[in-house]
Amino acid sequence: MSRTDPPPPQHQRLRRTASTDIRAERAFEGIAVSPGVAIGPVFGTSEPDPEIARHKIQAADIASEGARLDAAIAQSRTQLAKLRARLNVLPDESRAEIAPLIEAYIRMLGPSRLIRGVRRRIEDTLLSAESAVVAESEAIADAIMDQAEPGLSAEDVASLRRRADEVLEIGRRLVRNLTRAPFRSFAGLPEGAILVSESLRPADAALLDPARLAGVATEEGGADGHTAVMLRALGVPAVLGVAGLAHAIRPGDTAVLDGTAGTIVLNPSPPRLAAARRALTAYARERQKLARLRRLPAETDDGEAVELQANLELPVELPLIVQSGAVGIGLLRTEFLFMNRETVPDEQTQFETYRSIVEAMNGDPVTIRVLDWGGEKEIEALSSAGIVPEVADTNPALGLRGIRLLLRRPELLETQFAAVLRAAAFGPVRVMLPMVTTVAEVRAARDIYDRVSRRLRRRGERLAEKAPPLGIMIETPGAALSADALALEADFFAIGTNDLTAYTLAVDRGESDVADLYDPIHPAVLRLVQFATEAALRMRMPVSVCGEMAGNPRLTPLLLGLGLRSFSMNAGAVPRVKQAVRAVEIDDCARFARRVMDQSDPERIQALVDSFGQPTAD
Ligand code: PEP
Ligand code: MG
Repeated sequence: MSRTDPPPPQHQRLRRTASTDIRAERAFEGIAVSPGVAIGPVFGTSEPDPEIARHKIQAADIASEGARLDAAIAQSRTQLAKLRARLNVLPDESRAEIAPLIEAYIRMLGPSRLIRGVRRRIEDTLLSAESAVVAESEAIADAIMDQAEPGLSAEDVASLRRRADEVLEIGRRLVRNLTRAPFRSFAGLPEGAILVSESLRPADAALLDPARLAGVATEEGGADGHTAVMLRALGVPAVLGVAGLAHAIRPGDTAVLDGTAGTIVLNPSPPRLAAARRALTAYARERQKLARLRRLPAETDDGEAVELQANLELPVELPLIVQSGAVGIGLLRTEFLFMNRETVPDEQTQFETYRSIVEAMNGDPVTIRVLDWGGEKEIEALSSAGIVPEVADTNPALGLRGIRLLLRRPELLETQFAAVLRAAAFGPVRVMLPMVTTVAEVRAARDIYDRVSRRLRRRGERLAEKAPPLGIMIETPGAALSADALALEADFFAIGTNDLTAYTLAVDRGESDVADLYDPIHPAVLRLVQFATEAALRMRMPVSVCGEMAGNPRLTPLLLGLGLRSFSMNAGAVPRVKQAVRAVEIDDCARFARRVMDQSDPERIQALVDSFGQPTAD
């Protein structure tokens, strides 16, 4: 654009254009969440405009609309304050660039022209809060760009554009917080791009197409939060918890992301780019080599058979699961069925989905877990149907989550049980309850299960000859410590080490600030795993691990040594874990587990895990 060009229309103004200037290389570090290397253009999720239909309210609703706006302002402030607090891990130069931007956003959330204008539009023109935010932020941005008179220097025009962008950006944040809308605009993601975003909710991750995406990096997020779990499952290289990144990117940036090392480098230098290309080829070659393990049995060197299954969070993973060599699905997280839709899926919709997954597994078993709503797994369909409150609990992870909600709203559980029981006529199925803490919950759920089963028989539905086993997740310390009593009620256990770690250590699994404290091999967690495993083995009851720990090949000897023989993990991890299984003998694993369990120092345990297989002094 020449110096005297008039500003383009607003929608074009925000479209980021590739530029040819030479950009300095900038390296960022975060949490390595999903392995692999990505090279590509950066796509920032804050770019697209929210699509908000112009929506009017009644005069009587002005106060409540104002209250919604206040809540969104408060939430936006909290988000920005959190991002600002984490900037101190950055080098001075990057911090000096990003901090003023975040300050500007925070200032705009105060008694600014934007907020005053939004309130006026709600009160005077009866616009909904989100419509008022869009209208006001666009009006301000247009007014700023109207100052771009012919004759103004390119730098001045660029500075005006930056200011207009900032207003629109804070408007988008407010709208996102008002609507809790997922980033539906992923449709515009260029092929092979690296997605950079401040945060990514599990419902957003569910909309990603792994075939089009090279990698993901976000400022927020922890190692085993649900977003991390999904990205790993989709096989998308990812680094989360990267302080300052979303605010450092500029239109036209490119990046190299290393999901194994936990790094992302913007505008890589030619030598770094060349090294990344070599790493990409080496990674692909290694995957090919691992793929050859597919047909080999999962058994230890001394012949002990081990069951390796896959976790499924989205149906798009099915081909990856089939290729991985996993024998069945050990954890089908059904939350995806409820995400990104306005109504709760009915029995027939659920049945058809479960049935297609069961059939795709071609006779291999499928463990279907009923809905685990709560914590960070926000599901709009449930709030719009009034099943869960619009406003989250003070402590969502400790609130009405998993089986607690299902027993409070048994119609949800009945519908899901009916769909699963019908799908079980098409292949081997097990049914699993999430977030159990008491024996009473299992008894209550089983009563409903039996009742639904009888009802389906009366209805003349085609069912499996025998009702599928009904098991439970062991993912709270309460459940782990009651494992002997729970083993009398449940047909199997699946140990969910993600939540078990979070609840035992009081560390949010999706929170970058405390990510260094999230430690699945902390002795307290391992003791609970051991206690629950032994309770199951005493009862000769099936027990597996389906938390992320199961997919870490470095922990395979320890878990085998604790007596576990069944693991369910993201499909991408199956070949490596199989390799680890085939490399060990059970007696060595048992001896090793005893040494680990004698330790109470997490660092010592880590050192032991790192040294497994090396000669020891004792
Ligand atoms: C777990 O908590 O370990 C688990 C497998 O369940 P989710 O990750 O779905 O909470
Ligand atoms: Mg869990």
